[in-house]
Amino acid sequence: MPGAGVLPDLDLTALTDAAQEAAESRIRAGSWSAWSDAAQRVQWCSHPVRLRGSSVTVDTVTGALDTFSSSQVGGVVRVPCGNRRADRCSACSRVYARDTFELIRTGLLGGKQVPESVADNPLVFATLTAPSFGHVHGVRNGGRCRPRQDAETCPHGRLLSCHKVHDDADDQVGSPLCWECYDWTSAVVWQWHAPELWRRTTIALRRALAGYLGVTSTGLRKIATVQYAKVAEFQARGLVHFHALIRLDGPDGPGSPAPLGGLTLARLVKQAVRGVQVEASPVDGADVPRVLRFGVQFDARTVRTGRPGGFLDDVRSSDELHAGQVAGYLAKYATKSTSESGVPRPHHRRMEHECIDLSQRAMTCDPDSSYFLLGKWARMLGFRGHFSTKSRAYSVTLGRLRAARRRFARLKAESERAGEPLDLADLEARLLADDDTTLVVSSSWEFVGSGWGSQGDKELADAAAARAREYAQFVATRVNEDR
Ligand SMILES: [Zn+2]
Ligand SMILES: [Zn+2]
Ligand SMILES: [Zn+2]
Repeated sequence: MPGAGVLPDLDLTALTDAAQEAAESRIRAGSWSAWSDAAQRVQWCSHPVRLRGSSVTVDTVTGALDTFSSSQVGGVVRVPCGNRRADRCSACSRVYARDTFELIRTGLLGGKQVPESVADNPLVFATLTAPSFGHVHGVRNGGRCRPRQDAETCPHGRLLSCHKVHDDADDQVGSPLCWECYDWTSAVVWQWHAPELWRRTTIALRRALAGYLGVTSTGLRKIATVQYAKVAEFQARGLVHFHALIRLDGPDGPGSPAPLGGLTLARLVKQAVRGVQVEASPVDGADVPRVLRFGVQFDARTVRTGRPGGFLDDVRSSDELHAGQVAGYLAKYATKSTSESGVPRPHHRRMEHECIDLSQRAMTCDPDSSYFLLGKWARMLGFRGHFSTKSRAYSVTLGRLRAARRRFARLKAESERAGEPLDLADLEARLLADDDTTLVVSSSWEFVGSGWGSQGDKELADAAAARAREYAQFVATRVNEDR
């Protein structure tokens, strides 16, 4: 077994033709090892960003100045594209998924400087859906799409039934039975306001908790705090669902004892979601005002009831979900694109057009209208929110995980230069520490381009990324077997 961190040889027979050609020509030209070092530095990103310039940093503890310039490394510096979507960059989306997983997992179980007592607190898993804007085709767990005995038709003469059995890859899934009946405008306007619906839900939940505990909203802070991690997932119909883990803590930070249990918390979450609404102004003079809500099919389940024996409602719920599974699902949802296949479905195109159309209408009517920006978000089908968000004290932040990774790379490079093994004492604490002692004094970078420059190199990077993943899985299995 090779040592950790050393990749097994790249299997050239498993490569695409373009990748194989690229590899062979680089080996012939003697540039193979330089290229593979560059690719490894960006973790085999599919479309690294190329930058030219320099930066000067100072270590605030030792006072040592460090200058770094792209001219030191052959003229350009490559940085990972950082794309969240698996269909854009499998390597970067994996990093994002892994960070999201850690962020969610540490809020469930503790770790990475989050107290382990968070695992004792009540926790609810909520799924908030979009309402219906018309009948759509769907995968019905292997059943028929929309079987109806009668041959009822819409005003356009189209059947309101569908007897097909669709699978996930079917382009029709999520598309309306009648494109003319479907309320595209309301769908896009709902998506535009979805982040505000979520924000109001968190406020409504705090109010519901205060009401239940008989205190004011300000008084609530002295008894309990609500923490959450939430991801947005695109459904086949092009609308987002929110999946949220909601944890109740006491007043003394993450993991401090909460004043009520998980079943009550689930009940209050449902109450909050049901009551929340946003009054959306019309797009223009020809449009109507709308009252937007979440779909009726929302769900709030107790993952954990809280401390055993503490509260009256502390009976274990039959619906209890497994904490580790939940973190895995959520991390995966957060990397989904508008369309799982990466190719936009025809009804997604229709939504994009609706975004652009509404944005133009809004601008003509009122140049200050926020709907004007809908055009900018057309590719996201009008969704302008983040794909994973969390409240401040839920767990560790993505930023801190990223900083820890940069620090690790720096420490590793230093130890390699010095020819000494990496000092493992308190490594995690040092990596996650709040105080970054490196201060950027000056920095000036210009964008040169993105991508590898050739399709062969890109496919080579993708193949190496896949190989690195297999290898990581192999090592993980071995480590588990050795235990
Ligand atoms: Zn990338
Ligand atoms: Zn159908
Ligand atoms: Zn119709």
